[in-house]
Amino acid sequence: MADCLFCKIIDGQIPGVKKVHEDALSLGFLDINPQAPTHALFIPKRHVSTLNDATTEDRELLGHLVFSAAKYAREKGLAESGYRTVMNCNKDGGQTVFHVHLHLLAGRSLTWPPG
Ligand code: AMP
Ligand code: ZN
Repeated sequence: MADCLFCKIIDGQIPGVKKVHEDALSLGFLDINPQAPTHALFIPKRHVSTLNDATTEDRELLGHLVFSAAKYAREKGLAESGYRTVMNCNKDGGQTVFHVHLHLLAGRSLTWPPG
């Protein structure tokens, strides 16, 4: 999608992106405005705007993001202490970039409920 920031990141058009994971289906990179000592985003290479736009065909793709994030957490030694994965949807969910992404937050004790 021409006007989508995360599609541009996938295309390598945005400088300074710190990739933490890449495979045929997904990309993981560090969040530019981290909310925890480790804050990474996992996105599908296929553009899906919001969780509302996901179809049954996207089920494996979305599950793949979760597994990619868990794999990264294990590799970084964050699995045992724990972490949070979050997918914000639309205004009330706090979504600001309209290309589906899974946040991985780790490295501090996270409060619940979130703000
Ligand atoms: P959300 O608010 O759930 O849509 O999350 C969007 C996330 O994208 C925010 O945490 C931003 O800090 C992050 N973000 C925006 N632009 C960039 C960028 N160029 N590189 C990395 N992360 C970004
Ligand atoms: Zn996109």
